[in-house]
Amino acid sequence: MAPVTTWDLLIKNVRVVRPQGHAVHGADIAIRGGKFAKIAGDLSAKSAKRVYDGKGGLAFPGVVDAHTHAGIYSPLKEDAVSESKAAAQGGVTSMLNYFRTGQYYLNKRGPYRKFFPEVLEISKGRYHVDYAYHLAPMDRTHISEIPTLVDKHGVSSFKIFMFYGSHGLHGRSDAQRDFLMIGPDDRYDYAHFEFVMRGVQKARERLPAKASQISLSLHCETAEIMTAYTKMVESADKLKGLAAYHAARPPHSEGLAVFIAAYLANETALPNVNLLHLSSRKALSAALQMQAVFPHIDFRREVTIGHLVLDVNSKAGPLAKVNPPIRPREDVEYLWEQLLAGNVHWVVSDHACCRHETKVAKKAFGNIWLAKSGFGGTEYLLPALVSEGSKRGLSYNRMAALTSYNPARRFGLNSKGDIAEGLDADLAIVDPSETWTIRAKDSQSTQGYTPFEGIELSARVKATFLRGELVCENGNVTGKPLGRYLHRPTN
Ligand SMILES: [Zn+2]
Repeated sequence: MAPVTTWDLLIKNVRVVRPQGHAVHGADIAIRGGKFAKIAGDLSAKSAKRVYDGKGGLAFPGVVDAHTHAGIYSPLKEDAVSESKAAAQGGVTSMLNYFRTGQYYLNKRGPYRKFFPEVLEISKGRYHVDYAYHLAPMDRTHISEIPTLVDKHGVSSFKIFMFYGSHGLHGRSDAQRDFLMIGPDDRYDYAHFEFVMRGVQKARERLPAKASQISLSLHCETAEIMTAYTKMVESADKLKGLAAYHAARPPHSEGLAVFIAAYLANETALPNVNLLHLSSRKALSAALQMQAVFPHIDFRREVTIGHLVLDVNSKAGPLAKVNPPIRPREDVEYLWEQLLAGNVHWVVSDHACCRHETKVAKKAFGNIWLAKSGFGGTEYLLPALVSEGSKRGLSYNRMAALTSYNPARRFGLNSKGDIAEGLDADLAIVDPSETWTIRAKDSQSTQGYTPFEGIELSARVKATFLRGELVCENGNVTGKPLGRYLHRPTN
């Protein structure tokens, strides 16, 4: 005899958004053991232990925020809790966190075989959503560890910060060796980047079953151009705020870095390359040019929600300082044009909680040069994309691909990214017609301000489910941290 209850949870009255296709379908979603068990019209409530009324909202696959920085400016043990709560508020169910040795983060050096278990130990039981780490090989030892990091630790994606060798995180710097905490025999330069690429490719060859989901991400900006332009813009002292920072890190610095990255990827036969947070027309068009030159390289092009929403005239001023910088409106419009044309693969937050007291120098408020780089925004990623994307004719299906399916597949999260039987029951239920205004005080993030303050959105996340558990409803994060480490590629 069949048991009376078949499902742990039945979500009724939602419109299901799949990343493929061109429409949304009214359906019920049945969940069992943390997985989607059945998606069909009119499933019987009698078969479920619990029933949740979706109130006609859109059910998006849980957001995979593929670019976050928990632990950069505050201890990881604090950020993991508060910033993953903010993520849950925004319908994010997987955070992919960029991490490295050196200053900030854990403020220490050493091989990843020692460093990374400590990161995992701190993370355990603290995240409210599932999480994984991308790691940046900073020296030769780290390069030699790449195959082990993939195989033993489930880290299948790596990062290069192209400008860190001779330009600081927040501005000009002559102390990059101290910042990176690399030894006297190590250099963080183009040769190092080449050997990182060779190291990642070697791991792909050694682990053929995982190779398609092992990739390298690059922050594309060139130190030399930025150092020279920063000096010029600072001493001319004509431009202020975000316009000055944009001029000090000009778009051609990004474009040039994209060319160098692509050339080296071809030289090292590395086919999986992610070009992170392309912020300008020159950067994104350079990425498209390189795709045409090297068609055998599988480039993925990322943009952030900050670069899609803010421009240099944003009221936020120095609070919106970030690398690459917030750009003029014409660049923002170009990013949208290419996103609508299908030339952008995913949208992320680049969430880096940088509290007010850390962000801007007390005695120099408004001084862009003294402000720190980065800000949070994972909680606004999906609602802002739905709001702004709807105005511009982006389909819900493509929004689901851009925020969930595409990054999930690239980064080896094979149980995430779609609302389909057998996958993890991660969901963001969105009301696409609720108008509301962003206020930092409503966020669970400890940042305390947001460069998005005062922006009116027309879509809101009403509920977030992580593997079938309701983790956030109407902005309230409930329950213990249930987030699990995602050992990638997952099954
Ligand atoms: Zn970042």
